[in-house]
Amino acid sequence: MLTKKLCITCKEIKPASAFYLNNKNKGILFSSCKECTANQRKANAFSVNKSKREWDRRNPEKSRKAKRAHFEKNREKYAALARKYAKDHPEWKREQWRKRQMKKKGVGGYHTPAQFELVKKQQKQKCYYCGETKRLVRDHVHPISKGGSDSISNIVAACYQCNGLKNNRMMDDFVALVLSRTHSCSPSVVAFALRFKQENPLLFWQEQLKAEDAEPLFSQGIAGKVGS
Ligand SMILES: [Zn+2]
Ligand SMILES: [Zn+2]
Repeated sequence: MLTKKLCITCKEIKPASAFYLNNKNKGILFSSCKECTANQRKANAFSVNKSKREWDRRNPEKSRKAKRAHFEKNREKYAALARKYAKDHPEWKREQWRKRQMKKKGVGGYHTPAQFELVKKQQKQKCYYCGETKRLVRDHVHPISKGGSDSISNIVAACYQCNGLKNNRMMDDFVALVLSRTHSCSPSVVAFALRFKQENPLLFWQEQLKAEDAEPLFSQGIAGKVGS
C-alpha cells in the first residue's frame, strides 16, 4: 500500500492516512484527500439535498417507504442517538416528560420553557404572590386539576412556598385562605390577597404585560386571557 499520495484537488502530497479508503475497490484510496473530500461534500450538500427533496416530492409513496425501511434498518443506531441526546440534554428530557404528563392528563394548551423564562423576566424574577426573589416555579393560575390549561396565559412564576400554599386552589379560594390565616401567612402574601380583593391583580398582571419590556411576550402570544 502507498504511504504517500498526491491529492488531485489540492495538489499536495499527503500521507495515506489523509485519504479515505474507497470501499468499492478495497485497498484503493480516494483521489482527493479527506480535507478536500469534506469541502466538496459541503459544497455539494445543498444541491444534493435539493434534488433529493425534489425526488421525494415527485415520489411521495416511494419516499415514505424508503425512509421507513432506512429507519427500520438503522433502528438501533437511531435509538442510541436518541438516548445520547436525552442524556446530554437533561432539561429537554424533563420537558418531554412534562409534555407527556400534560397530554396524559388531557390538559389543553402548552407553553415552552423559553416562554416561562420570559414570564420570570417580566416579573423581575420575583414571586408573583409574595414578591420575594426566590427560586421560581411555574404556577397554573387556574389549576390544571380543575380544567386550567398549560398555555402561557395561565402561568405565573411563584416561589415554592406560595406555590405549595395555593396548591390546587382557584384564585378566589387561595385569597380567602390567606385572609383567614393572616397570622400565619407572610405579610407580603397577605398584602397580595388584599390587593387581589380590591383590584383583581390578574387584570393588573395583564396591564403589566402591556409594559414596553413585554414586547417579546406579545410577539410569542403570551398576552391573553388568564386561564384560557
Ligand atoms: Zn487535498
Ligand atoms: Zn412567594
